[in-house]
Amino acid sequence: MSTDYLVKALAFNGGIRAYAVRSTETVGEVQRRHHMWPTATAALGRTISATAMMGAMLKGEDRITVKIQGDGPLGPIVVDANAKGEIRGYATNPQTHVPLNDKGKLDVRGVVGTEGTLSIIKDLGLKDYFTGQVPLISGEIAEDFTQYLVVSEQVPSAVALGVLVNPDNTVKAAGGFIIQVMPGVTDETITLLEEKISTMKPISTLIDQGLSPEEILIEVLGKENVEFLDTVNVKFDCECSKERFGDAIQALGCHEVQAMIDEDHGAEAQCHFCLETYQFSEAELKQLIDNMPSAED
Ligand code: ZN
Repeated sequence: MSTDYLVKALAFNGGIRAYAVRSTETVGEVQRRHHMWPTATAALGRTISATAMMGAMLKGEDRITVKIQGDGPLGPIVVDANAKGEIRGYATNPQTHVPLNDKGKLDVRGVVGTEGTLSIIKDLGLKDYFTGQVPLISGEIAEDFTQYLVVSEQVPSAVALGVLVNPDNTVKAAGGFIIQVMPGVTDETITLLEEKISTMKPISTLIDQGLSPEEILIEVLGKENVEFLDTVNVKFDCECSKERFGDAIQALGCHEVQAMIDEDHGAEAQCHFCLETYQFSEAELKQLIDNMPSAED
């Protein structure tokens, strides 16, 4: 049972919306599944924390997919999540690591790159999609999400994300928070929060010290100002299945599937997110062909 969860809150009489997440177990599971190296884990882990919180801004069966495509050696990062805290993700080259940066920290920018895009797709059900994209401004992930929220969703926001990796590459601590400013908040409040955020300890340190998501928001916003609304359990969850891969193979069309039968006498498909593999025998591939909707001429 995962101990990861996120909390949603309001503060300063509803003028501030806030989210905080502890994602240590979830990022740890992804690290183990993909045998990730530390800098790659930090980049993907930060993205997982941010996506979990953005998922919590959705409702019902809505889903969000985040893709960070930089020019660094890590290759694209893809993470998706829903409003129920179920999350999965991968980095294209999980065994990526570079020396620490000049602050002695994992050099996330060095693996993500500084040129590229952060794109977001929200699947809002009934074929209703929202998409947004911003250029990367930092490659450190938190600044890039801040830029996205400000530019694409027009909500002034502060985003903090952090991951601590143990010497044996396992995950020691991971988490983050998002603070959003609604219209009508006084400049005084904004200055207060900016000062607090710029002087507090790094989020990964707070998580490592055992602070809960609630305690982190109290740290940022002040105990007397914050009102907690809801908590959501966060966990790694991949919804892939043999049936879904069968559908994808079927979508390749009759000729492709026949070629798999003739040349390879079967097929194997692997999920990018959880690395589960699915085998399709010759007979199963034949059945996929037989069940294809009749071809349009
Ligand atoms: Zn999967």
